[in-house]
Amino acid sequence: MIKRAVFPGSFDPITKGHENIIRRALPLFDEIIVAIGLNIEKKGYFRLEDRELWIRTVFADCPKIKVESYSGLTVDFCREVEASYILRGLRTSADFEFERTVGQVNKKLYPAIETVFLLTTPEYTSVNSSIVRDVHKNGGDVGLFIPEGVILPRQ
Ligand code: ADP
Repeated sequence: MIKRAVFPGSFDPITKGHENIIRRALPLFDEIIVAIGLNIEKKGYFRLEDRELWIRTVFADCPKIKVESYSGLTVDFCREVEASYILRGLRTSADFEFERTVGQVNKKLYPAIETVFLLTTPEYTSVNSSIVRDVHKNGGDVGLFIPEGVILPRQ
């Protein structure tokens, strides 16, 4: 059976932090599905089609990377795509506390799943999508935080 991981998130937009985690996880898995989770109650800042396109552009050189979107439980999506691993990044102790709860609940819901955590590379600790959205809203230079090749629409 192929080692397939799901990397769930909102990717609104993809950042250098996400890219770093995904590239470092490549040797660990045969396939990584970057899965954009949709929340019915929360509309994204960027359009879903754009978010998908940016991820595809960044990983155009990586046949192991697939991009999909899903709604509902992450573990249900993992079952559907036959993934045995969930990949997550850890930046801070706050991330750890949050991830521990989610990881343990996911394991209860779907005992066959394992969550694999990679520690962030120090320079990306403070990079997150909400900061990028804030900088973008206020006309700042987002180029520092997003992967090469991603061009966000003008405000
Ligand atoms: P964000 O927190 O940027 O909104 P998501 O909700 O899309 O990102 O998170 C998807 C995954 O990416 C999570 O596991 C999150 O911990 C991880 N992640 C996000 N930013 C970074 C970063 N700078 N370094 C390492 N992991 C990160």
